[in-house]
Amino acid sequence: MHRAHNYRHLIARWQAVCRAAGVRLRRFAEAGKYGVYYLQTRGSGPAVYVSAGIHGDEPAGPEGLVSWAEENPGRLRAHALLIFPCLNPWGLVNNIRVDADGRDLNRSFHVMEHPLIAGWHKVMEGRAFEAAVMLHEDYDGEGFYLYEIQRQQPSWGAALLHAASGIIPVEPRARVDRYTARAGIIRRKIGTVDFASFGYPEAVWLHLHHSERTFTIESPSEFALAQRAAAHRAAIEATLAAVSGLAS
Ligand SMILES: [Zn+2]
Repeated sequence: MHRAHNYRHLIARWQAVCRAAGVRLRRFAEAGKYGVYYLQTRGSGPAVYVSAGIHGDEPAGPEGLVSWAEENPGRLRAHALLIFPCLNPWGLVNNIRVDADGRDLNRSFHVMEHPLIAGWHKVMEGRAFEAAVMLHEDYDGEGFYLYEIQRQQPSWGAALLHAASGIIPVEPRARVDRYTARAGIIRRKIGTVDFASFGYPEAVWLHLHHSERTFTIESPSEFALAQRAAAHRAAIEATLAAVSGLAS
């Protein structure tokens, strides 16, 4: 677990996962001298997007995602997944939120001239997902929580939090940053936000252009890394269970 900021090691683990699953780890951009990758699995059923590591000082996301893939090779074969293992390698290596240019990538999805963002958009062309899950962490977090944006009812947020609640309890705070949280769920009213000024987060871009539901999952940084990674794995599993429920 001490290797959580070792990007080379992370990608070696993904290469092993991909070899075992018979899929290719594809490089779609270079950022701060690091290759940035995605993989697409060929399973059936509704498509799911999963990404981690857009904020480099939130290592439980990339660790949770790769360990989930290592532990669940059958899921990679069964589901139609698009996975971005780590969107900000330079940040991960340097344990910092922003990229090598000091940019918060999670406010930059409208910046088409940025090479990494441009590469991401090219990968995403024409794609539609039932759900998108983005793995994050919060230094002020006291429990596990999420931001949910979805067009479809019912809400899946409670099921995702419940799945992780045996590992990390649900966030007890009723205010998180400037938002109201109810039982660990923040439902943002995105119609009232001027994202052209604020900058487009990944989840908002996905909601507007690619996904029926988006979940930005936040683990509390003060908990042990193994626990945080396990909670992220539980949230991924709960998402796939919910997606499978749609198909059946
Ligand atoms: Zn974050």
